[in-house]
Amino acid sequence: MDCLFCKIIAGEIPAKKLYEDEHAIAFADISPQAPVHVLIVPRRHISSHAQATRSDASLLGHLLNVASEIAHQQGLGKGFRTVINTGPDGGQTVDHLHMHVLGGRAMHWPPG
Ligand code: 5GP
Repeated sequence: MDCLFCKIIAGEIPAKKLYEDEHAIAFADISPQAPVHVLIVPRRHISSHAQATRSDASLLGHLLNVASEIAHQQGLGKGFRTVINTGPDGGQTVDHLHMHVLGGRAMHWPPG
């Protein structure tokens, strides 16, 4: 399968890894949109949030737990934002489910 994030998971493409366990890995975004910008990615290929099912509930919850752990690890005590872009209208550009963790500056609302 020609998936960028599967290649990062497999170690075929380098990335600055910040966290990993048996279910997920986290690495720095190559084009950071905030002082801290981390991507949390399930090891299993799920192409988007829209493709996740109820049987993935614990995995999806795990991604949120990892997000708050990374925020703590990165010193984001003033807050942070988690984002999952889904599909073309959601702004998804890599077809492997991933959660963004952004922090280190005040975020705006509504997002663009
Ligand atoms: P999306 O737009 O799908 O929600 O997020 C994809 C993210 O992957 C973008 O923020 C983009 O900067 C990041 N990205 C794209 N290619 C690479 C890469 O090769 N390495 C890393 N670390 N991040 C990437």
